[in-house]
Amino acid sequence: MDERIFNFSAGPAVLPVPVLEIAQRDLLALPGVGMSVMEISHRSKTFDEIFAKAESGLRELLGIPPNYRVLFLQGGASLQFSMVPMNFLPGDASADYVITGSWGKKALKEAKRSGNVNVAATMADGGFTRVPENEELKLSPQAAYVHITTNETIEGVEWKQEPEVGDVPLVADASSDILSHPIPIEKYGIIYAGAQKNMGPSGVTLVILRDDLLKKIPDGLHTMLDYRTHVENKSLYNTPNTWGIYIISLICDWLKEKGGLAGMHRENEAKAQLIYDAIDATEFYRGHADHDSRSIMNVTFRLPNEELEKKFSAEATAQGLDGLKGHRSVGGIRASIYNAFPLAGVKALVAFMKEFEKNNG
Ligand SMILES: *Cc1c(COP(=O)(O)O)cnc(C)c1O
Repeated sequence: MDERIFNFSAGPAVLPVPVLEIAQRDLLALPGVGMSVMEISHRSKTFDEIFAKAESGLRELLGIPPNYRVLFLQGGASLQFSMVPMNFLPGDASADYVITGSWGKKALKEAKRSGNVNVAATMADGGFTRVPENEELKLSPQAAYVHITTNETIEGVEWKQEPEVGDVPLVADASSDILSHPIPIEKYGIIYAGAQKNMGPSGVTLVILRDDLLKKIPDGLHTMLDYRTHVENKSLYNTPNTWGIYIISLICDWLKEKGGLAGMHRENEAKAQLIYDAIDATEFYRGHADHDSRSIMNVTFRLPNEELEKKFSAEATAQGLDGLKGHRSVGGIRASIYNAFPLAGVKALVAFMKEFEKNNG
């Protein structure tokens, strides 16, 4: 196969073709350097420039204020589930967790190993179909932080605006919707995201962290698990994922050319709307998330029965629409349509949905 198919994978996910083309063109020898990005020292001047470009690109696109640090770590968002409480949940304190789906549950599990946790709200009873209203949150004013998952990748549930948490630092796992729309960074204490959904390849984790929080970190943590290590060493304490950071720098260029996150957001909304309209047009398809909490990145829906769902994803795959099977924990169908996913692929899916219903409805 040498044609690209439509890749609805939830992650690692589709990357922009122009970015892949640059990476391919320069794979053997970066212009003026004569070596691949993968072959140069992370302490070389060339890598310094790549690193600086990735950071400044993200700062510009996300409007990250100067009092926030930008870190490129490893271990995925999953390691952040542990690092956040290890650094910011001291023995006698308690942290508030808002559980809107599978990833929030995993974050909670790790936090419980570190200290006291208050579940400020869980949407498990409704089957994780929406985010809570502010009035539903049982927040504690003394909490060390409030943790949310801005987009639940598996259930397809997304916050449309930040919860009101007062002066308590808001900590967010934004792995699957970072860079999909503008965000008010100053409302957050920490934002973290694995790169492989919407920002680059797997193996890099972005952490955006407000300066003043650093002084709350207890001494005695393992060096690699202490955020201060990475701040002081500018993410170069150990060898970072040089290739991943390079791709992020190219993604930032691509996003800027597209008009930044506001432009990207409009495109993402338009793409998602096409699929949600197709779901709403018939009883055959049932959307998982409530209207107000529908994700623009991961569109989740059900068919009348599991047999039809299997048939749907199998036939779609055969037609070059790959990765539509829902996560094994929830079933159904999931169309992940991140920034780089093309409109043509969304239109192809909508056409397939109509055809499939006609033949099976
Ligand atoms: C994919 C994902 C994770 C896990 O990321 P890893 O990089 O595999 O650790 C965590 N949270 C969310 C919201 C995700 O989508």
